[in-house]
Amino acid sequence: MIWMMTVDPARRRLLLPNLLRGFVLTVCLVFAGAEYWHGLETRAEARAQIQLDAANLARAVSQHAEDSFQLADATLSGIAERLHVYGTGPGNLESLSRYMRREAARSPRIHALYVYDASGNWIASSLATLPASKNNSDRAYFRHHREVDDGLSWLGPPVRSRTDNSWIITLTRRYNDARGRFGGVVLASIRSRYFSDYYRGFELGREGAVALVNEAGIVCARAPDDEANVGRDLSNTTLFADIKAARSGTLTYVSPVDQMRRISGFHHADHFPLIAVAALSEYEALAAWRRSMRTHALLTLVTIALLAVLGEWLRRQLLARQAVQDQLEALARTDSLTGLANRRALDEYLADAWPRALRESAPLGLLLVDIDHFKAFNDTYGHQAGDACLRQVAEAVKHCARRHGDMAARYGGEELALVLPGCDSNTVRELAEAVCRNVRALGIPHAESYTAPVVTISVGGASLWPARMGAEEGPASLVKLADLALYDAKAGGRNRAAVRS
Ligand code: GH3
Ligand code: MG
Ligand code: MG
Repeated sequence: MIWMMTVDPARRRLLLPNLLRGFVLTVCLVFAGAEYWHGLETRAEARAQIQLDAANLARAVSQHAEDSFQLADATLSGIAERLHVYGTGPGNLESLSRYMRREAARSPRIHALYVYDASGNWIASSLATLPASKNNSDRAYFRHHREVDDGLSWLGPPVRSRTDNSWIITLTRRYNDARGRFGGVVLASIRSRYFSDYYRGFELGREGAVALVNEAGIVCARAPDDEANVGRDLSNTTLFADIKAARSGTLTYVSPVDQMRRISGFHHADHFPLIAVAALSEYEALAAWRRSMRTHALLTLVTIALLAVLGEWLRRQLLARQAVQDQLEALARTDSLTGLANRRALDEYLADAWPRALRESAPLGLLLVDIDHFKAFNDTYGHQAGDACLRQVAEAVKHCARRHGDMAARYGGEELALVLPGCDSNTVRELAEAVCRNVRALGIPHAESYTAPVVTISVGGASLWPARMGAEEGPASLVKLADLALYDAKAGGRNRAAVRS
């Protein structure tokens, strides 16, 4: 209805439901955001823990390698000293071989012990028999010790053993003869497998790896796939460059060996050119975190879904309740017989329209419509016919309320009203006459009317400029004026319009 449009009820009605929807949406977003933030934080914590584990593991592995080679070095040192003091006579070599066999058998670390003379020929070993033809003067360690007399042991790169073809790492020492000249080399070999077997004892997960790399970047031992990667040169990889750059630390990288993304700890041995690298697969190490996040996310999702459903249900309830309330409100302001606004709504509307016209410096018009000889109509045709007639007249009046802000109402009894904001007296007059004509044109027979054979109306019109009126004036002045005009019309013979301003 035109008279209800001025208060924008749609917006008013949707305010609370929209607020509710916004609130639920915000809560859902906050939940989701909190979950995301929690996920990031716990992931960072999990990664920090993995880094710590990797660093500790690298340190332990480095210490193990160091201890292993130091033990072997102690044995070598004893043998070199014995050769220096007792020489390489057959008696000494015989007892030395027995000693070396015992040492090799006693220690799982030591693969074999050898003594070479100054020409690189094997002269004693921990092996049961001595292969006569083998000469190792071409090995790097032999050339090194022949040149350098520094009293230090020398750790060689991993090589294939000439006795059983397994990967070994050699530790060698020079021994001098009684006169202090180069007497030859003593060698202890440790199997690469000895280290990898030890590394396999760690709980590394399926993708974890532990490696022992020398300072030249050559892999000496690795678990899980020990043999396949031993001897591999990593010196050109960025990973190795990073590892070389610090004594210990942690790195996240894509492994050059198997392309897996890993978090790794590394530690350089103190006394040997070796680096221990312990790497854990990031994906695998974060498995527990992912599991917990999945559960969390699922719970959050369910909570959000419940909230959304509950919010939507509440919103619909609110809308339905407001629709009922709006209907009741509309009913309370509507005349049930004619469907026009009732007197209460008319009074409220006029009370609104007056100050608006005042603000806008616009005229405010009003028509009061009264059916002529309506008592006689009722008496002649009955009250039901009277009601029907009233409805038809009301429809005709409403038909004239065409502009935005126009409002047709039932003033009371058989009197109707038409509020016309912005209409001056000329327009009011035109409309008043138009209403008269329209009702007459309905052609509702009225045999008892003194005025015409059909139902007619008298219209009192008035138009005032609230801005030009005194402060004590109000809508009542307009009604009073229209009422006076209505009396004029009645007095003038009915079936006509009269206007005052
Ligand atoms: P006048 O030309 O001077 O206006 O004569 P009148 O008979 O129309 O005026 P009066 O005030 O004497 O009578 C009004 C009549 O309107 C009286 C009443 O029965 C009738 N009336 C008022 N409300 C209703 C209604 O809702 N339905 C019906 N059927 N009649 C109504
Ligand atoms: Mg009347
Ligand atoms: Mg009347």
